[in-house]
Amino acid sequence: MISHMNMALRSPMLLSRYSHLLSAKLQIQMHLSTSPLTRKMSTDARSIASQLSNSGLLKTQGLIGEKWSDAYDGKTIQVINPATGDSIADVACMGGRETNDAISSAYDAFRSWSKITAAERSKYLRKWYDLLMAHKEELAQLITLEQGKPLKESLGEVSYGAGFIEFASEEAKRIYGDIIPAPLSDRRLFVLKQPVGVVGAITPWNFPLAMITRKVGPALACGCTAVIKPSEITPLTALAAAELAIQAGIPAGVLNVVMGNAPDIGDAFLASPQVRKITFTGSTAVGKKLMAGSAETVKKVSLELGGNAPCIVFDDADLDIAVKGTLAAKFRNSGQTCICANRIIVQEGIYEKFANALLDAVQNMKVGDGFSDGVVQGPLINEAAVKKVESLIHDATSKGAKVIIGGKRHSLGLTFYEPTIVSDVHNDMRISREEAFGPVAPLLRFKTEEDAIRIANDTNAGLGSYVFTNSIQRSWRVAEALEYGLVGVNEAGISTEVAPFGGFKQSGLGREGSKYGMDEYLEIKYVCLGNMNKE
Ligand code: ADP
Repeated sequence: MISHMNMALRSPMLLSRYSHLLSAKLQIQMHLSTSPLTRKMSTDARSIASQLSNSGLLKTQGLIGEKWSDAYDGKTIQVINPATGDSIADVACMGGRETNDAISSAYDAFRSWSKITAAERSKYLRKWYDLLMAHKEELAQLITLEQGKPLKESLGEVSYGAGFIEFASEEAKRIYGDIIPAPLSDRRLFVLKQPVGVVGAITPWNFPLAMITRKVGPALACGCTAVIKPSEITPLTALAAAELAIQAGIPAGVLNVVMGNAPDIGDAFLASPQVRKITFTGSTAVGKKLMAGSAETVKKVSLELGGNAPCIVFDDADLDIAVKGTLAAKFRNSGQTCICANRIIVQEGIYEKFANALLDAVQNMKVGDGFSDGVVQGPLINEAAVKKVESLIHDATSKGAKVIIGGKRHSLGLTFYEPTIVSDVHNDMRISREEAFGPVAPLLRFKTEEDAIRIANDTNAGLGSYVFTNSIQRSWRVAEALEYGLVGVNEAGISTEVAPFGGFKQSGLGREGSKYGMDEYLEIKYVCLGNMNKE
């Protein structure tokens, strides 16, 4: 770690890349002088980490073929518990060389994995799903430890994430082709669906398990092999999931994991003609780079990028449903999801009532370490995330927005931020244009349905959106008019493995989950049999 930090300090680019580690170091220093409550949280987290270590699921090396491997130059990177600033583990900090070896392993394994029957692949995936669910508690603890979300949410993520593997195991057997009526009597026309090849999967830190399973589940079901690059901030859950894949008997090389220097790993994926598909979830800026970089070898690309979700509350909404839905859409994972409500657009007739009811609900939210009882909001992922929220609030209040509650760091210190509501927000403020990725609910006011749709669509993003109304006609009209890949009507919990997830506009390309998500890992091959009338 020290050598890594020194390296970062020498290079401004690396400094910004690894700023979360530097701030984590500061957090550790802060932590030593913080309250007894903070120290108690730390002790709990430490004993959980040592139990996990005994369970064999706390892996720190990458997986290349059948071998768990250190970085070839021995470099490591610290994984930090965002709730305490403590280091959980040092994991291998890999780069291009390890990635090339992982790609070769995946390429070799593709030959046999793509040839076994769909039923066999289905059985492996089912076994993996069973193991993920059997280790639900430990995986959830790992998620809370490295990512910070409340344990209850982590347990939910394990079920949700494992669901993609279960769904893929079922869908593996339903990858049908077609027979096309031939235009000439001596021809027979077929369409085959075949796996695209080696997949490079790059995932973020906000759902350390689910963002991986929703990619590799369908990839493996279709007969592809994969190299996963989890976020360097949360690699431990990915490594535990890979260990369970091995225990499920998934053959060596089918699934590989490398983590560490993200640009080096990404460049190795892009440069390799053997990688036929890039699937990425993360920032729009990195997604654009990967899309541009894929052009050289013309890879298939799917991107799940940033959102700017509107949550529209009409005068005719059920207040209770709208408040509960908004709370879930906004504050889940401390606001750190790409479908978190980013702008709460409320009709003028219900605005005051809604704001007061939301305030009542937010006042009762318990903030703390994700392992503590009753906590519904954990820390943000790092200091940079807190600073981003602070600067958005500062911009909004300097332009006339008002903080109704919160608006500052939490007394717990470290990376904890108070659940916040800001009123009188306009669509031209930064808080409405950028993804806050924090526990901040900005309230915007509108008059007519047309206003609401115009404000909602006035962004380059188009991922999640929410509408609260009791009118069936309005809900249909507005759902059709929203330029978004997902619309929740009177519902915030819309993400599931059985439905397609993905964005319009600059929120991405392609879909994950459901039967549509399978197509992302398949090539379509047309076969024409000729001279079929010959005796
Ligand atoms: P976030 O802001 O959510 O961390 P990022 O886009 O920075 O979003 O990160 C998402 C994933 O992309 C992480 O696994 C990260 O390591 C990876 N990543 C970041 N930069 C690059 C890059 N230049 N090439 C490939 N992957 C990258």
